Formats: sequence, C-alpha cells, structure tokens
Amino acid sequence: LTGRFQMALRRLTGKAKLTENDIDEMMREVRLSLLEADVNYKVVKEFTEDVKVLAYGEKILKGLKPGEQVVKIVNDELTKLMGEETSEINLKTNDMTVMLMVGLQGAGKTTTAGKLANFIKNKHNKKPMLIAADVYRPAAIEQLQTVGQQLGIEVYQEGLIDPETIVKNGLKYAKEQAYDLVIIDTAGRLHIDDSMMDEIQKIEKLSKPDEVLLTVDAMTGQDAVNVAETFNKALNLTGCILTKLDGDTRGGAALSIRKMTGVPIKFSGTGEKLEDIEVFHPERMASRILGMGDILSLVEKATQEIDEEEALSMMEKMMTGKFNYNDLLKQMKMIKRMGKFSGILKMMPGMKSLGNMDKVDDKQLEYIEAIVGSMTEEERKKPELINRSSSRRNRIARGSGRSYSEINKLVDMLEKQQTLMRRMQGMNPDSLQNMAQG
Ligand code: GDP
Ligand code: MG
Repeated sequence: LTGRFQMALRRLTGKAKLTENDIDEMMREVRLSLLEADVNYKVVKEFTEDVKVLAYGEKILKGLKPGEQVVKIVNDELTKLMGEETSEINLKTNDMTVMLMVGLQGAGKTTTAGKLANFIKNKHNKKPMLIAADVYRPAAIEQLQTVGQQLGIEVYQEGLIDPETIVKNGLKYAKEQAYDLVIIDTAGRLHIDDSMMDEIQKIEKLSKPDEVLLTVDAMTGQDAVNVAETFNKALNLTGCILTKLDGDTRGGAALSIRKMTGVPIKFSGTGEKLEDIEVFHPERMASRILGMGDILSLVEKATQEIDEEEALSMMEKMMTGKFNYNDLLKQMKMIKRMGKFSGILKMMPGMKSLGNMDKVDDKQLEYIEAIVGSMTEEERKKPELINRSSSRRNRIARGSGRSYSEINKLVDMLEKQQTLMRRMQGMNPDSLQNMAQG
C-alpha cells in the first residue's frame, strides 16, 4: 500500500472509551434539556438511566469530545425510541379504509382529519370522504364542512343526531358512492371523561377502523402521557398525530407518548393551513427534543468520517485484488449513504463504471441485493465462477426474479472494477486519483 493510504488506515485504531465520569457529566445537561422540552419526568429518568448503561465503554469517535459522544448516543437512542423509521399508514388496497380521529377538544382533530384526507388523496391516489360525528356543537359540523369545501372533499353529516347513527349511515353511503377512504371526526372534551370514552368506544366498535389516530397538541407538555395512556386503554390506538409543531415547543410529548404507550407517532401538524401536515420523522424529532443542534452537527461530521474509514478499508481490499460480490454490495450501500461524489468515495476506483448511479436508490439496491442473495457464498467470493457459466447466471436470474441482462450488467460492473484494480497496483496516489474518475 502507498504511504498515504497507510496513514489514513492507521486512524482506524487506538480509540478511547467513555468513562462513567464522562457520561455523568454530560447526562446532567441531557436531563435538563429533556425536561425543558417537556418530556415526562418519568420518561426522562428511565431514559437517562438506560442510556448511561448503554454508553459506558462505548468508543469515542475521532474528532469528538467524550461529552459530545454521549450526546450522539442519546440522540441515537431517542431516535430508536421514537421508532427509527417512519411508521406506515394502514391503507387497504382492495377495500374501503376507515380512520377514526380521537383526542381532546382543541387538539386539532377536525383540521387534521381534512389535512390527512387531502394528503392521502394526493399521495396514495385515494377517494376520501369525511364524516361529521362531533354533534355537541353545531359549529363543529360547519367547521368540517368548510374544511371539506376548501379541499373539494365530501363531508357526510346528519346534523346533531346521535353519532353512532351518523357513522353507520355515513359508512354505508361511502360504500355506495365507491369512496375508498373514510375519516371520522369525533367530539373531544376539554378533559377526559367517561361518557366521551364510552361514545368513542361505541363508534370504534361499529366502524372497525383500520387506523385509530390520537391527535395530540404538541404543547400539551407533561400531561400528554396521561392523555395518551387513557385513550390507549380505552381504544385500540394505531397511531398518534402531533399537532402544532410549528410553534416553539420542542415536542417532548412525542417521546413521552411513544415511550409510555408504544403507540407510534405517524404524522405531525406544522401549521393552520390544510397542507401543513408531514409524515413524522423520528430522527428530526430527536434532535429537536434534545435541542443540542451544534453538538449534533459536530457528531454528524464525525459519523461521516467513520464512513470514510470504512471506505478506505474497502479500498485497501480492492487494491489487493480481492474485490468480490460481497464487497460490491457493501460499496453500493455506502454510496447510498454517502452519495457517489462525497470525499473518499470519489477516490474509489471504477466509480465511473457504475454508470449514472450518482445516487443508489432503494430499488436499485434492492435488486442488487436480490441478485447477490441468489448467488452461493462461493460464487460471491469467486466471481470468475459466474463469468464462465451461463447456467449459473440463469439460475441467479431465476432465483432473484431479475432479468438475465441485469445479471450480466452486474457481472460487467464487477469485472470492470477488477480490471481497474489490477492496473492500479503499483501506481502513486496522484495518478490513482485521476484513474478514479475513469
Ligand atoms: P379539534 O377540537 O380537536 O377538532 O381541533 P381543531 O381541528 O378545531 O383545531 C383547534 C385549533 O388548532 C384550530 O384553530 C386549528 O386551526 C389549530 N390547529 C390545528 N392543527 C394545527 C397545527 O398543526 N398548527 C397550528 N398552528 N394550529 C393548528
Ligand atoms: Mg373538532
């Protein structure tokens, strides 16, 4: 290996670990920060205790101070707690989907019912209808009708009769009119009371909703947990929508609710306008709750460096001429994470042979994973086995459900990279960099 790469590779080793002291010091700040964000105190206590155990003995990333490393761990754990990935909304493909909006008065049910209907209509090509089942204030029905008019979405209502009848008739009507999504707006109270729960339970029973969505005002603060727990005991909540995140609340309710009830947060409301709704992103929310943006951007940089180290070690492997399909798959995943033109990846040989894959999207990666997954371990490690045998290629095509020509493309890709690597051996870094483009 050339000196420059050796030097870079050396950075991989010799890292310090977090001590109890490091952790305690930073945890005080973290605790305050979470409490400031209105995270429920029980959640804060439990969470910080869990993280302490997790953090102890963790490696400190290059370029970070121990305290900053603790913040990274806290942020990662917050993200994990809130679900890591965005939760999918439950939509039937061949039948009518029914959603029930529940929550306290003023939480944003009526507004969000409209937002959601419109969002799903546009994004998933559904034909939605709204049912007005809040019969305690005449204004509530009018409000939903106004929302419906603005969006061009039909609102079913029968005035101030009993809500069960409205829902029953509304669902029947929606079926007849071939609507495939019905969102039911219900009444809330200022505080939880039994008669309200009783009524919603009855509506839940007769409408058999695919989603029961609890709408919570993000500014609810410490009380959010009680609200969510009570609703979750009485109903089969499938998700939560956090509204009014456009305010300056840090949104600690998201964490409290998720941790105490396990109900996933599915959407967030970010304004009064009917397009102000977003799919909930746990990672963004974690940073917001933690409120340590500066440290987190430092952490991001350090994490990027880790990726670069990984890329370097892969490069070392490529230069020994042992690049195989397992490595190719790893490389694709790395490109997906980092982008083809980021730092070290630009220096990798054969980047151009990947064609116009500036970004690897999920689908591409999925196909390549399927193809490599249909190879035997021996084939993955000895690509030449596949090069020589069309019956192997055929078998891989069948196994992966991809076309024969796609298999050939992948085989070509690997071959090109191997050729490049052979030519690279013994070159100096500057000409290597030139080659990487070619
Ligand atoms: P409901 O009583 O649960 O049906 O709540 P509403 O839908 O009537 O909403 C109560 C108030 O909150 C209304 O003034 C809405 O405009 C407002 N609202 C709802 N969602 C949001 C949001 O995401 N951001 C902001 N700023 N206001 C919201
Ligand atoms: Mg309402």
